[in-house]
Amino acid sequence: MPLISITQELARAQQGRYALPLFDTFDMHSTDAMFAVAEEKRAPMMVAIYASSMDHPNARAFAAYIRARAEDVSVPVSLMLDHGRSFEECIKAIRYGFTDVMFDGSSLPMEENIAVTRMVVRAAHAVGVGVEAELGHVGRGSEYEDLATRRAGYTDPAAAETFVAETGVDFLAIAIGTAHGLYAREPQLDLDLLREIRTRVGIPLVLHGGSGLTEAQFRAAIAAGIFKINVATDLYVTTGKRLVEASQTDGVSYHSLGTTALDSLQERVGYYVDLFGASGRNL
Ligand code: 13P
Repeated sequence: MPLISITQELARAQQGRYALPLFDTFDMHSTDAMFAVAEEKRAPMMVAIYASSMDHPNARAFAAYIRARAEDVSVPVSLMLDHGRSFEECIKAIRYGFTDVMFDGSSLPMEENIAVTRMVVRAAHAVGVGVEAELGHVGRGSEYEDLATRRAGYTDPAAAETFVAETGVDFLAIAIGTAHGLYAREPQLDLDLLREIRTRVGIPLVLHGGSGLTEAQFRAAIAAGIFKINVATDLYVTTGKRLVEASQTDGVSYHSLGTTALDSLQERVGYYVDLFGASGRNL
């Protein structure tokens, strides 16, 4: 089926108390692995292109590839711009056929974040595209020691309530102790903060920085009100290691490495889809 905005599927996830997975894709192998899992497990899914990849000359063609491959999948899948850096970039993504966009104004002053998010929402909704924003700031795992100690960027519940009311955004990324990339030390989630935000904000809440959390942390986050979880680093770190191992075996070739990558990505994606409870939601 054609790509669709995931907004309705997120509402279903919220009712059913499971989380939709978002995976960042960088090429044909990762896209194909993700869609194969979506189809096999009957799982709604979001695939995303990082904003920085929008600078590449192949960005439009890559989005077109994802759109075409989605036609072969019979469960709802969405293409999202991840961490969009400006209003203009979100519009460019919509033009390329993305069905959901994230505008990440989390490093801006709150008023500016509200102002730009509101513009993105207005434009995106005019053409049926869903919008995610971020309030608080999810930092980098390499700086986790410092971030977690200072609770730097953690989302303020009252500000989240105001932000959602003033922007009309569809889903909100919050900072409750996760970070992007490999963690410098074991991550800890502030589930009380999540519950407090949940009492003030009715729209689906999103957890970024999924790589490196334990199964128990994922389950607890979903139980406390997270309905979309972003994962990237683990897929590519694990697959990178497998490719290094495979490259040292007899008979290895360019083509066999492609199969290794596909198998590894499929396994990791399948693991998260099952863990988040998204499998079998579109029978
Ligand atoms: P990780 O790469 O840490 O899993 O985070 C992914 C993410 O949040 C993308 O938006």
